[in-house]
Amino acid sequence: MLETICETLVEAYKRNWITSRDGNVSIRHHDRDHFYITPSGVRKQTLQPDQFKKIGIEKGYYGQPPRPYHSAIELPYTDISEKLKPSGELPLHFGLQKMMGQHWQDVRVVVHLHPTYCIAAMHAGIDLSTISAAFPELNRYTKVAPNVGDVPPISEELGDECHKNLKLDKEGNIAYDIVGIKGHGVVAIDTSPWRAFEHIERLEHICQIVLASGKY
Ligand SMILES: [Zn+2]
Repeated sequence: MLETICETLVEAYKRNWITSRDGNVSIRHHDRDHFYITPSGVRKQTLQPDQFKKIGIEKGYYGQPPRPYHSAIELPYTDISEKLKPSGELPLHFGLQKMMGQHWQDVRVVVHLHPTYCIAAMHAGIDLSTISAAFPELNRYTKVAPNVGDVPPISEELGDECHKNLKLDKEGNIAYDIVGIKGHGVVAIDTSPWRAFEHIERLEHICQIVLASGKY
């Protein structure tokens, strides 16, 4: 599926949803205690599966009574990936991958992109969660979380705010499929790269329609 992720990023680039080095994706299979994430600073048009970073999910305990915690550790993968760093949005992905919630018997893919009309709509003051009610072709398939406000990119805060608005719980369950980050982009989650991509595509299409109508 790493190859499929590369294909979705080429498509995202063609659609002007990212510039060359933007965007990041992670993928975890439920029976593995590691996941793969796109490397930092690599052109997405030429991204290859052997450039991904492999991140281990280490479980430990602290306090009395002991409470579990998870930490991320870089694992060796390929010679090429050895020289690369994981995406700066690793905290965002790690929070969503360490426990898989409703995807515990499946695969979880987390996709972060910068789709034009979603960002334009948020810039215009639209909360993406409010527009979905008027568009059944969106809300039938995609649950949209309330926007995250202005937070710095590549920060713990960005991860925390996205997790909060997706209603991520201790078991990794999430209540929404996609969340917008004002002035920045969106994060979508599903069981395959293309399914996550489609949440973004659907929301992007509706945002384009809403903005074209001028009524918001
Ligand atoms: Zn971004």
